[in-house]
Amino acid sequence: LKKQTASYNLTITAFLVLCIGFLMSCGLFYQPRQSPKVTTEIIKLNLDTVTFNSAWQYIYRASDSKKTLLQHTKLAFSVDFNSQTLAGQATLTLCPNANPSDTVVIDAKAFLLNRVGLIKKNDTTSKLDTIGLEYKYNKAELVVKLPRVYMPNESYILFINYIAQPTQVQAKGSAAIKNAQGLYFINADGKNPLVPKQVWTQGETESTSCWCPTIDNPNQKCTQEFYIKVPKGMICVSNGEKGKSINNRDSTETTVWRMKSPHSPYLFMFAMSDFAVSDNEWKGKPVNYYVDPLYQEYADEIFGKTPLMMEQFSTLLNYPYPWPKYDQVVVHDFVSGAMENTSATIHGSFVQCTTRDLIDKNQEEIIAHELFHQWFGDLVTCESWSNIALNESFATYGEYLWNEVAYGKNIADVGLLEDINAYLSEAKYKTTSIVRYNYADKEDLFDRHSYQKGACVLHMLREQVGDRNFFKSLNLYLTQNAYKTAELANLRLAFEEVTGEDLSWFFNQWFLQAGHPKLKISYAYAPILHKALVNIEQTQDAPALHVFTVPIKIDVYQNGIKNQVQVILNKRKQVFEIDCLNKPDLINVDADKTILCEKVDQKSIPEFIFQYKNAQNYIDQVEALNYLTTVQKNNLSVSEIFELAITDNNYAIRKQAVENIDITDSLVMARSLNKVEALAQKDIKSSVRAAAIKKLATINNLRYVSLFETASKDSSYLVCAAAIKGLGSLNTADGLRIAPTFENEKNLGVIVAVAQLYSNKGTADNYTFYANQLKNKTGYECYDLINHFGNYLLRMSESIIERGTLILLQKATQEKEWPIRYAAYQAIANFASKYNKDTDKDRLTVLNSILSDIREQEKDPKLKLIYSQLK
Ligand SMILES: [Zn+2]
Repeated sequence: LKKQTASYNLTITAFLVLCIGFLMSCGLFYQPRQSPKVTTEIIKLNLDTVTFNSAWQYIYRASDSKKTLLQHTKLAFSVDFNSQTLAGQATLTLCPNANPSDTVVIDAKAFLLNRVGLIKKNDTTSKLDTIGLEYKYNKAELVVKLPRVYMPNESYILFINYIAQPTQVQAKGSAAIKNAQGLYFINADGKNPLVPKQVWTQGETESTSCWCPTIDNPNQKCTQEFYIKVPKGMICVSNGEKGKSINNRDSTETTVWRMKSPHSPYLFMFAMSDFAVSDNEWKGKPVNYYVDPLYQEYADEIFGKTPLMMEQFSTLLNYPYPWPKYDQVVVHDFVSGAMENTSATIHGSFVQCTTRDLIDKNQEEIIAHELFHQWFGDLVTCESWSNIALNESFATYGEYLWNEVAYGKNIADVGLLEDINAYLSEAKYKTTSIVRYNYADKEDLFDRHSYQKGACVLHMLREQVGDRNFFKSLNLYLTQNAYKTAELANLRLAFEEVTGEDLSWFFNQWFLQAGHPKLKISYAYAPILHKALVNIEQTQDAPALHVFTVPIKIDVYQNGIKNQVQVILNKRKQVFEIDCLNKPDLINVDADKTILCEKVDQKSIPEFIFQYKNAQNYIDQVEALNYLTTVQKNNLSVSEIFELAITDNNYAIRKQAVENIDITDSLVMARSLNKVEALAQKDIKSSVRAAAIKKLATINNLRYVSLFETASKDSSYLVCAAAIKGLGSLNTADGLRIAPTFENEKNLGVIVAVAQLYSNKGTADNYTFYANQLKNKTGYECYDLINHFGNYLLRMSESIIERGTLILLQKATQEKEWPIRYAAYQAIANFASKYNKDTDKDRLTVLNSILSDIREQEKDPKLKLIYSQLK
């Protein structure tokens, strides 16, 4: 699975971060990388006081016993949009595994069973000759008594005729997957003109059994054959090769899909809608993109690099893409970001964007993530959810690998640093190992440890063994475990076989133990001994977090020459002596910047300046800029660095520099202001132009009015939104003059910019804008709007507040997501600040009764708990 990238995703991420205490996990699929900008009321809530999990048990989770092997799933089915059910006839080929057995347990959630039987012979016709079987069914597990004892590997074929009722499934979702009913009907009655009529599946973690009887465990693998009756006007996608369709008498069509290589049940999928399709190929294999008809013209722009990615990954791994085709399907209201079903990935509709949207953000990382899963996850599958990192760490690292081959190491490192920071922010409140056998709920495993930390650890492993051995080991791991399942030890053994080294220390420390080193680094020079001293202390808490063993490369720069020494850090406090004729210009610990750690690196300003100019890596430059940002006041040499940085080749450096440069400093202003203005107008990267506009807006100079007005017509929405906000902060009249022309923009960032401008500067006339926007938007899309609307109303007359309160009341009681309801509640609660206890008694009484009604209506346990603590 992978994270989202639409413009409102920052807000979603903000929620995930904010609500950690409640949501407990995030992103089965794709974890958003951007660090969230949290500006809203909800963060004021003290999460520490909220406890949910006292009853949870962190018990050891062994892999499930494999008493029976699922060998083949043949399924014929049709869906009914009216009742939101699926009528299926499954024939499952099974056999006892290690021991003779006369029973089999099948996962089948909320089914109506018509017949359970044993097929007398391998009958593939519709007139199945079956023997009825005795069974017990508790709406979750079907325990079937076979007519006799079967021996290990002696196959039998079970026949199950059933109705699946996904809306009846009693299963909880998680933050990553909002629901767990396996099969989802969207706009089932076709009454919503804005959303296509669709049906699609989501199997991970154990929800395929909501629509297909199976042994719903990642440690099972079987071949598959689907016969899917497709309603007229719809197109169907599923796993594997598409066979010849069958025309039915009722003018529907049955499409046939065959998966001839075994894969796990959670990767089964199908999706139906009136998709538009873009047909492509890679080395003769079909590579198709299924999108809403409205987005047909953009499908190739969005997904077009897929064949090149297949080529690059196949080459890097020396293992060709393992499935007969690769489809990517976009669906509405998806329960997560995207899902790597075997040969048929599903993406949430946020990936659908126009040429103009793509200027600010392409979708390549999520595409790379799901594609890399086709090897790591689908070809080789984690044998249990405890080992989910074998899927997700690799998929997340797949994003790095794609960026590296496509854009070079420095750009890939931008993503790596985001991964490091994402993990470190989670590590502040969560201490756990990447691979973990003790957990409360499997959905908790889909976190930044399994994703981002895992990717960083793989990157360190690559550094440790070298590129050649790294990719050779991955190839061996894939080859040895292809079409099978694996646990962490399989990965370690593959690396050990290739490198000839015992790597237990690395795997134990990084995958099986929690935490990361916190390093305090200081330097000294002993002139008489001609030695440079590097003191490194590991300051992570003892004994909870052990002492790490970390091989470290140290670059020593002296007289224009760089020498490298390698040391091993393995104690709490160590001093490394390095021969040095003179005091070095710079000692750069962790020369390749791959060690996952937090550090306090006690360098001087000249050393950081030297590092910025001479060290090789993006992260070297970031670290230098981070420090220099804090000391730029009245410092000529530092201002020179910023002048360099805002014109660096790497956009991320330019962006960081322009965000942090102090343009109120006279030295900086003299050297760099014109350069910042140039960035705002013509930097090649829209995020840099937007950052420069934001920076210029801080100096409140009316001469930027025309620059901002021009920028508001920029091709990039990001730049347009920054310009509207900038104009709003410079000059009320100009802001209010220009904002109405953007009131109907589709882009949420632009709408939020207008909403922000009106909230600070708007008049009573702007009320309609908010009312219209909030009427048309739901879910996380309206989060920022609600906050701006609340602030806007605070400046308005009593009658406007009253009208606005009705809109907010509706949001506070009817929105599906509780954080949105809570935002609306808070906006209303803020009105109390306007009222005087003595003179506005009546108004306060009305307000309090509205708030108390909202609280009483609330059903969500998390929000109820928050409300109970507010009172
Ligand atoms: Zn994933």
